[in-house]
Amino acid sequence: MNKIYNVGIIGGGVSGVVTALEMAKHNIDSILFEQANSVVNGPPFCHLHAGGNLYPDISDEQCRILMKQSIAMARLFPESIDQRPTFISVPKSEKYDIHTLLNRLDMLVGYYQSLIDEDPSNEILGAPQDYYNLYTEADLIALSEKPAYKRPSTPDQWMANSVKLIDYKKLKTPVILVQEYGWNLFRLGAQAQLALEQSSNCSLKTNTNVNHIKDVRAESLDYNWEIQTKDEVYKVKYLVNSSGYKTGQIEASLQLKTERLIEFKAAYVSKWEPQPGLLPELIFHGERGTPNGMVQLTPYAEDFYQIHGMTEEITLFKDGLIKSKANEAQPQFNEDINLKLYKGWATKDVESRTENAIASVGQFVPSFKTATVGGPPLFGAQQIRGNDPNLRVGEVSFPSPFYARSEIIKASSALTVAHQIMAKLQDENIIPALANTSLENEILEAIDTEAINRFASQLAKERGYPEALSRLVIERQ
Ligand SMILES: Cc1cc2nc3c(=O)[nH]c(=O)nc-3n(C[C@H](O)[C@H](O)[C@H](O)COP(=O)(O)OP(=O)(O)OC[C@H]3O[C@@H](n4cnc5c(N)ncnc54)[C@H](O)[C@@H]3O)c2cc1C
Repeated sequence: MNKIYNVGIIGGGVSGVVTALEMAKHNIDSILFEQANSVVNGPPFCHLHAGGNLYPDISDEQCRILMKQSIAMARLFPESIDQRPTFISVPKSEKYDIHTLLNRLDMLVGYYQSLIDEDPSNEILGAPQDYYNLYTEADLIALSEKPAYKRPSTPDQWMANSVKLIDYKKLKTPVILVQEYGWNLFRLGAQAQLALEQSSNCSLKTNTNVNHIKDVRAESLDYNWEIQTKDEVYKVKYLVNSSGYKTGQIEASLQLKTERLIEFKAAYVSKWEPQPGLLPELIFHGERGTPNGMVQLTPYAEDFYQIHGMTEEITLFKDGLIKSKANEAQPQFNEDINLKLYKGWATKDVESRTENAIASVGQFVPSFKTATVGGPPLFGAQQIRGNDPNLRVGEVSFPSPFYARSEIIKASSALTVAHQIMAKLQDENIIPALANTSLENEILEAIDTEAINRFASQLAKERGYPEALSRLVIERQ
């Protein structure tokens, strides 16, 4: 192949596709390699962390970054955002002080207001004064007597639906309802893939594994890297490594070694009986890794619910979090995790872990104990740069010329990473200075809702999940 691409991107997860879409928007040609047959096929995501309220232990600064980045991604992919709130609580048995969470929420309201002052289009989480609401025990008792609301439209209605099901006597009060929304990975993947396929600036290579990278930077050629696949060698000026937890595997061929953690986790799909009204996402905080780790119940369409439980019997795994050794670029999981990643799950593991997950929700929502296994788990491995497993915001680094390494920890960081890579491409004179710095992307906007619905549904089915997981609970107006 004689063509020289400006940018070669390895990995079509959320980071790689958003980087390719940003390039395409600015008419910069790129080639994107994804080993699977569709994009956004790696570790799942379901929650837009617009404020970091699922993480009581992270810094205020990480909360602000998560909020800002989440708003930017929600503006880019509105078709994948499920506008239902999140119920946040601390069980009486847990250490967290609800008042610490409240101070942080007040800080976030002020910060959200400042983002809207900068750009009114940032107001995607509702009015700042409604960002969160608190409910005392007396409020909960009063709301429990209200009727159920089929399609709630106010915080009180969402809370009325929740309190009828939750054993709130087990929880510290007040409890919180916050405007952190759901995020549908099938819809994001569908829109991104359709947009990239239509773009003349991006060559999307699915079903294409990158085997090796040859560094030719010292050879005074018109390009800097040769990307080798089974059948071809592709020439690129700039290399972006967005291969997720396999970043180290690519770096082994670049003779680069850096400290990183990789973590395997899973969430479980359950089916419950129809409820009289929609529920928010339900969070019951607890210390990660202990038997009381956080429980998260995420509603989907048609009575499907996804469950995370931050214990080793549910979402986390023994030796699921590992760090790179001094002599290796790529940490290696144990055999059990590799089997799950590459060969699939044994039915008994799906059943026992989903049942554990259902029981963990049942502690706080007693009627949920009747839920059953609703489909295979959503699972995957991700990386965390450095050695701090509590880091929730990861971005991009530029370890050597003409090379970017994306290490996002939350899907919301993808656009920030893409913007930082664009800035570097200008610094390194791969592309001229860019004038347009708007967030919107016309290539994405050209994909209509019907096409997203169809392709998202196809992706969910192809991957073995109930088709309902490709739909939003709150349909967009
Ligand atoms: C259980 C779980 C729940 C999560 N929930 C949330 C959530 O609610 N909200 C949130 O924001 N984040 C969540 N995350 C984190 C989120 O999933 C990740 O941050 C994000 O998906 C990482 O995207 P990425 O593009 O960096 O990597 P990936 O999605 O891993 O993409 C990397 C891609 O590179 C491809 N690839 C790798 N090597 C090669 C090669 N040699 N050749 C070609 N292709 C290659 C892979 O196939 C893959 O598609 C969750 C993670 C897990 C595990």
